[in-house]
Parts: sequence; structure tokens; C-alpha cells
Amino acid sequence: MKISFDFDGTLTSNPQLFRQITSAFSANGDDLFVISGRRTSKPIEQFLEEHDFPQMEIQTQDRLMGNGKTGTIDQLGIDLHFDNNPAVADAVSSEVFLVGQKPRTFGEVK
Ligand SMILES: [Mg+2]
Repeated sequence: MKISFDFDGTLTSNPQLFRQITSAFSANGDDLFVISGRRTSKPIEQFLEEHDFPQMEIQTQDRLMGNGKTGTIDQLGIDLHFDNNPAVADAVSSEVFLVGQKPRTFGEVK
């Protein structure tokens, strides 16, 4: 599978957890991407190296093929994307795992 991750508020929200998640996907042979609205990839490269992430292809504004973040997710044919922004989930055709969203308990559902 092709699996992608937002950077700010997603990978950065819990580096240890996401290193474990991405390492498991990598060991499974999945193709991993970081797709971010950031302008450049350098800070992301440094973060991934500092936290010992597996090999991931980084797509930032300087590499987004002119389609923006959500267009790139679709264009790359991503199967599963992790993001902290619900608007991204509405804008792409891949499955999206929303990160940092409080699960509703039964009593909170209206
Ligand atoms: Mg984000």
C-alpha cells in the first residue's frame, strides 16, 4: 500500500508513536510518504533523521507537482493518509485516519 502522513500536528504530535507505526508499515513493504503544506522539505528531513524514522518520500510545496497537498495525495494514488485536519479527509478520495480528534463518547453524540 501507499501510505502518507501529514507533518505538522500529525508526525510531530507523537514522534515515538509514529516512528513505530511507520517502521511497522515499512517492514510490511508499504511505500511511505510525508505530504505537507510546508514550503520546503529540509526541516522534515531533519525531524525524520532525528527521530530515526524509516525511509519516507517527502512531498512539500516545492515538490507538490502544482496540485497542492490534497491533489498530490490523489495523484500519488495514496491508499491511506494520516492527518490532523478533517478538511483534508473531505477533499481526497483515499482513506484518511484523523489524528488528534477526540473520540465522541455516546453521551456527546447529538
Ligand atoms: Mg497538520
